[in-house]
Amino acid sequence: MEKSKEKILEVKNLKQYFNEGSRNEVRAVDDITFDIFRGETFGLVGESGSGKSTTGRSIIRLYEPTAGEIDFQGTQVHKISKKKDLLQFRRDMQMIFQDPYASLNPKMKVRDIIAEGIDIHGLANSKEERNARVIELLELVGLNPDHASRYPHEFSGGQRQRIGIARALAVKPKFIVADEPISALDVSIQAQVVNLLMDLQKSQDLTFLFIAHDLSMVKYISDRIGVMNSGKLLELAPAEDVYNKPLHAYTESLLSAVPLPDPEYERARKRTTYVARIANDEEEELREIVPGHYVYCRESDVPRLKQKRAAYDNQNN
Ligand code: ADP
Ligand code: MG
Repeated sequence: MEKSKEKILEVKNLKQYFNEGSRNEVRAVDDITFDIFRGETFGLVGESGSGKSTTGRSIIRLYEPTAGEIDFQGTQVHKISKKKDLLQFRRDMQMIFQDPYASLNPKMKVRDIIAEGIDIHGLANSKEERNARVIELLELVGLNPDHASRYPHEFSGGQRQRIGIARALAVKPKFIVADEPISALDVSIQAQVVNLLMDLQKSQDLTFLFIAHDLSMVKYISDRIGVMNSGKLLELAPAEDVYNKPLHAYTESLLSAVPLPDPEYERARKRTTYVARIANDEEEELREIVPGHYVYCRESDVPRLKQKRAAYDNQNN
């Protein structure tokens, strides 16, 4: 599919520190810059503790950034102050969570869970309209209308995640932060939920920030992937390049952790581990090696990385 080149989101030099200045300071996000185009799926990948969720939460304005800015549809997210504009922002940007058990109120019926946003934003003029919209949403995510009067505990993990998706879609968002939405699900269910999200992306004109801790699923669904570690974006490229032409050692180590279905290969395989480089005077930053393929490195690394990329290109052509 041809993606638009219109930037819907721009993250510029974002820093998100916790307990700043204290002994317990955590630089969860440490100066990252990337854009997301309207209609694309941007995968954000990295092991636990890399700063992925913090990035997602900063984007949906759960935190005040330590530094940098986030522009959504041309407006700086943290400068939105009018109540009306903030409400619109809360509609346009929705989140889908990792744990479909913890994120649904067990005391609420599915109907009321899904209709929460409809109520907050006054999107239904009558009880009938509200019910009709809930049924429409249930069908959209592959559930039955009669599920509306049940409680979350009556559903499987995959079904609960569908309820969470319906709740997010109820307000007709433009952008969805999906924070490891399939990590807690059985492997057999993961593909179903991913396929649903991809179908919805097309039918509902959505843009996704899709967060995951490994590359196994994101590589299929993402247009571009950002690889994160220790609060830094270490590599950013089209999904197939991250997967087939990795340039950063950390990306290679992540790839070596993607299990393959061949047990012989799995036994023989060597795992690589990324060791962060010791800082010296030469500054590391995200540099463009070939158009669209960025690596966090020093200026003096660029010739070597260009060579490495060229070697991949020669192999594959
Ligand atoms: P990921 O989603 O990649 O696993 P997180 O963004 O959740 O990573 O966390 C990044 C780092 O920030 C971790 O070291 C985590 O412990 C820390 N962190 C996250 N949230 C907070 C918080 N509210 N207060 C203090 N530290 C936090
Ligand atoms: Mg996380």
